[in-house]
Amino acid sequence: MIAIQRGTERPNDVVIIQGHIDSRVTDVMNFTSDAPGANDDGSGTAAVIEAARVLSKRKFPGTIVYAALSGEEQGLLGGKILAQYAKAQGWNVVTVFNNDIIGNSCSSDGFCDDKHVRVLSEGPRSQGQAELAAQTHSLGGENDAPSRNISRYLDSLADRLNIGLDVTQIWRTDRFSRGGDHIPFLEMGYPAARISVAVENYDWQHQDLRTENGKAYGDTIDHMDFPYLEKVTKLNVAALASIASAPPPPEAKVEGGVSTDTLVTWAPVSGAEGYVIRLRRTDSSQWETVPAWDAPVSPSGQPSKSMNCLYPVTAGKKRVHAVGELSCRMSGSTIGSSECLPSAKTASKAPSPPQSPAARSSLTSLPRRNR
Ligand SMILES: [Zn+2]
Repeated sequence: MIAIQRGTERPNDVVIIQGHIDSRVTDVMNFTSDAPGANDDGSGTAAVIEAARVLSKRKFPGTIVYAALSGEEQGLLGGKILAQYAKAQGWNVVTVFNNDIIGNSCSSDGFCDDKHVRVLSEGPRSQGQAELAAQTHSLGGENDAPSRNISRYLDSLADRLNIGLDVTQIWRTDRFSRGGDHIPFLEMGYPAARISVAVENYDWQHQDLRTENGKAYGDTIDHMDFPYLEKVTKLNVAALASIASAPPPPEAKVEGGVSTDTLVTWAPVSGAEGYVIRLRRTDSSQWETVPAWDAPVSPSGQPSKSMNCLYPVTAGKKRVHAVGELSCRMSGSTIGSSECLPSAKTASKAPSPPQSPAARSSLTSLPRRNR
């Protein structure tokens, strides 16, 4: 089941929230036994429906697609169909949030955690990695793929939402020996991430309903933690609204060979009123959060000594000439990866400007993969 909320300004820019509506018992081909699938993946499907209920009352520049997919347990069939449909339609899929098992908080060993949610993202890209391998070995960037930046974005967004939920970034495509409906999108080059519970209970997923030695097996509704599911759903809804509102990221070019400066250039993006350049050490999981760096506009447009590593620029109506030429010096140390992000028109009102998670890798020569 698919619902499309067409964007008002950039209908071809698409963000997808999805869960899978099918469920299973122990034998994946058993289609007669009762398979309630409360958590796997009634929880993800509920998040999709709730997101549609909340967000369909508003309008967004970009398109939001709500998907309850089928046949996940038999081979990611619904995910494949939707990914193929997206490609056939020529959608620019900015992000896919695959919500699969998001509604319980206690694991099979009794450990409970309702304060974290895992976001799983691929490192080396599923699509196009063969062509990128040589560049990746030379320049790095294996931690800068679009899906990884979605992970970072959700992590920072959860902090800002302050709803008692933190993101644990898992830098893998999925859990060991497991998969989900984000994978068909990754294979087509679309940025995608899986969202899933902090701890898993294997007695309550993919099990025949039964009681053995006093222990209940099966994916039933009494094991759900609805306040936790609510928090994970809130994170999804906020991310969808933000991404569907944000201007597309600029394509940045970075040059810094045999130089103490790194030159970052990009073309203006329509709808962006300012830009934020973020840096991180190569061994840091998150973009640096020096508060001054979050100010997208400098009144003078001049390099600021206090910021040391950021030459803020203005864009749009005021100082268009400043855009596309700025350099960054970090004396005495090696520069980490850098990234250009546009800030949305509402950025000045928000505590921190929304960032598009699909911002491309900083590496000059890495082509974008999701067009
Ligand atoms: Zn599932």
